[in-house]
Amino acid sequence: MIQASHLYIVATPIGNLKDISARALDVLAGVDLVAAEDTRVAKRLLSEYEIEAQCIAYHDHNESTQSDNLITKLQAGQSIALVSDAGTPLINDPGYTIVKKCRELGIKVVPIPGSCALIAALSAAGVATDQFYYGGFLPAKTKARCDVLSLLAERSYSSVFYESPHRILASLADVQKTLGDKRQIVIAREITKTFETIKGGAVADVIDWMQADHNQQKGEFVLIVEGVASSGQLDDRAKQLLESLIEHLPLKVASGIVAQTFDLKKKQVYEYGITLSDK
Ligand code: SAM
Repeated sequence: MIQASHLYIVATPIGNLKDISARALDVLAGVDLVAAEDTRVAKRLLSEYEIEAQCIAYHDHNESTQSDNLITKLQAGQSIALVSDAGTPLINDPGYTIVKKCRELGIKVVPIPGSCALIAALSAAGVATDQFYYGGFLPAKTKARCDVLSLLAERSYSSVFYESPHRILASLADVQKTLGDKRQIVIAREITKTFETIKGGAVADVIDWMQADHNQQKGEFVLIVEGVASSGQLDDRAKQLLESLIEHLPLKVASGIVAQTFDLKKKQVYEYGITLSDK
């Protein structure tokens, strides 16, 4: 099953060590080398499954040189699995450099999917997920953070961020400051771990709840900021998108895309489109 000269991108658990696929275990057991963000963390996982693998460090600080080194090994016929400390590599984790170089060189890159904190959080949050924006970590400084959050003022779909325990309260305070007391949010804390907590509500209420219990400020967090309900109006942005889409797509298809993007009725968008062709 393991192929020579292939780079496997292997998702690992985000807490519960059982959250790893049978295929991921086969790959980790079968490759010539496991490139790991932290070899000690990888070895803990490997020993849980009694896998003896040779590990090599691949992290933010050696990505450039180590990717060249690993590519030489791949070109010589070795198979390599890339893992990060938790979850899916490259999702706010190392891996971009080697994957990009491999693809440019025609070296096969194979995803072995599995845990990812943002997807796990969205799957249990009870928010609209047909469309969402993922923003990685919010900026550390309040001015930059508020600038990013202010972009969510009119957004109709959910926005997802990773957050650290040191900044969670400050970030929630900035959500409240920029988007108002009532903006609905969900906090997904310590997913798949002993103290897993998924708490939703108006941001002001979630802040009160978190301040009342210091334990809720600990651990790893995914922050979801829900979108705002559409005004139901076909505004200038929706009209502009429709006008550019119908240059390339049938009106029916373009109307569907605009309706979904701005949470509008397809009929309403379609009827506006017909008036354009009359012009
Ligand atoms: N690659 C990972 C993934 O696929 O989710 C993300 C790595 S990023 C460096 C680490 C951040 O992900 C944490 O600071 C936290 O915001 C989020 N995270 C990771 N594990 C989590 C968990 N079990 N519960 C909640 N958030 C988690």
